[in-house]
Amino acid sequence: MTATAPSGAAAPVLEVRHLTKVFTQGGLLSRRSVTALRDVSFALGQAEIVSLVGESGSGKSTIARIVARLDQPTSGTFLLDGRDVIAGEKRRASRAFRRQVQMVFQDPFGSLNPNQRISHFLERPLRLHGISRNRDEIRTRSEVLMTDVGLTADMLDSFPHQLSGGQRQRVAIARALAVEPKLILADEPTSMLDVSVRIGVLNLMRDLCDQRGISILYITHDLASARYLADRTMVMFAGEIVEEGPSMEVMARPSHPYTRLLTSAVPDPHRLHGFDPATRSELRAAVHVAMYGPGGKPDAPTPGTEVVQVSVGPDHRVRRREPVRASEVTPA
Ligand code: ADP
Ligand code: MG
Repeated sequence: MTATAPSGAAAPVLEVRHLTKVFTQGGLLSRRSVTALRDVSFALGQAEIVSLVGESGSGKSTIARIVARLDQPTSGTFLLDGRDVIAGEKRRASRAFRRQVQMVFQDPFGSLNPNQRISHFLERPLRLHGISRNRDEIRTRSEVLMTDVGLTADMLDSFPHQLSGGQRQRVAIARALAVEPKLILADEPTSMLDVSVRIGVLNLMRDLCDQRGISILYITHDLASARYLADRTMVMFAGEIVEEGPSMEVMARPSHPYTRLLTSAVPDPHRLHGFDPATRSELRAAVHVAMYGPGGKPDAPTPGTEVVQVSVGPDHRVRRREPVRASEVTPA
């Protein structure tokens, strides 16, 4: 939404500005374009965790992939420590960039080659980024990384299949930590894990932020974990960040109909106003109007409407479509 730093924080580590991404899907005869991101802006402070919540297909991974430089935006850019990355490096991510931004993926099974011992996944980035060249030192650093993420040094000699899903995800986090990044993009890191081990992985991310000052973009479709982990939550729908604010506020006083729809599905003892009085089908209709105007469509919003950003509380903002105010219509 706004590209300003959260209040009280130092200059943002990450500042995303007006990212738009259009994908072309289908074959020659059935080509169509999909706008995965539409004018997405936000900022992430140092040692801050921000949750990005939204249903499947809303564009969450596309943001992460662009910021990790695995994909190019159609327009817009992002700044890392105030430096424009897209303008600075064109297409390919430099090694220096990859040292600063690391990604943790959803699937702890797919992200580790089954034929390699765990030691390989930690030693490789240490060597590749020139953090250490000495064998013994690399081994010692790997052992420390293992204990840092709550595993044991002897697991370095195991193969991925000998570890549980939760342990594998901890290895993926240790691998990200090996290069001492500023920013970790965690794309649904717990959604494939057993419920019983999720909380441990969330607590580990909290520790990384508190103890090492790492900033984390935590992507999830689960509102409860979003609030548990992050002070600030951004809600995404159909390629737009529709609401953003302190996690407690966003969940207790959801303003955008999509956020209200999301929170109405979760029984929540913290919610101030009990269950949303609007029915889910009323909310769905309201989501459409808030996004595209009455009778509007994603690529053809109602004429005479515009997207506005409204402040609904301290640091709490909602983005929705409203009729263009008469005073703003310039006469022809
Ligand atoms: P999320 O992570 O929130 O589930 P994604 O960012 O993966 O959502 O996808 C957003 C939209 O972009 C979806 O409609 C998806 O189908 C589309 N999309 C994502 N990646 C590609 C791609 N490589 N090619 C075409 N369409 C894509
Ligand atoms: Mg995704």
